[in-house]
Amino acid sequence: MTETRMIPSTIRQYEPERDPNTGEFQDWDVLIPRKQKQQPVSCLCKAGSICTTYTQWKCHTQNDTHKTWLKYYSQVELEKRKVEKLETDNQTLKELNTRLNTQIRKIRLQLGKEKKMVKQLEEEKDEVVLDLVERSLELVEKEEELKKLQEELKKTKSELDDANEFIDTALDQEESETNEQYDDCM
Ligand SMILES: [Zn+2]
Repeated sequence: MTETRMIPSTIRQYEPERDPNTGEFQDWDVLIPRKQKQQPVSCLCKAGSICTTYTQWKCHTQNDTHKTWLKYYSQVELEKRKVEKLETDNQTLKELNTRLNTQIRKIRLQLGKEKKMVKQLEEEKDEVVLDLVERSLELVEKEEELKKLQEELKKTKSELDDANEFIDTALDQEESETNEQYDDCM
């Protein structure tokens, strides 16, 4: 006589499947028809509800309690996915924000450097302008000095001309007097 020993099997917890077309969660055949000694399945719709055969399972899924639970399960799972998506989007936005902030910091730094450079160039420009003004003033002074020297030169030349003329006149006169004396001697 052989004794059929009951092999203790762990209970599998049922989870509905997601229909990829509708996105909704729906029941599926967790137990196979006409198969003996299958792993028992428990459903969360009702505490202690355990099915061991396909027929039991089919009957269970027609129950109003199960149907209502499935509807809420689907809603909760969909909400969970929405939240996960929002969290992912939020994380992506946070990362984008960080990248943008880094770029803004770099641009601000660059702008600061460029402003400093512009200020430096403006200061250098002012120095160059001041230098040019000083040189122009010096040039005006030199021109005035040159003008004075030219006038002095003109004056000196005129005096020299007068002196020459005086000398020439004197010489002419002396020569004339000498000739007169000579004539007297004749
Ligand atoms: Zn159920």
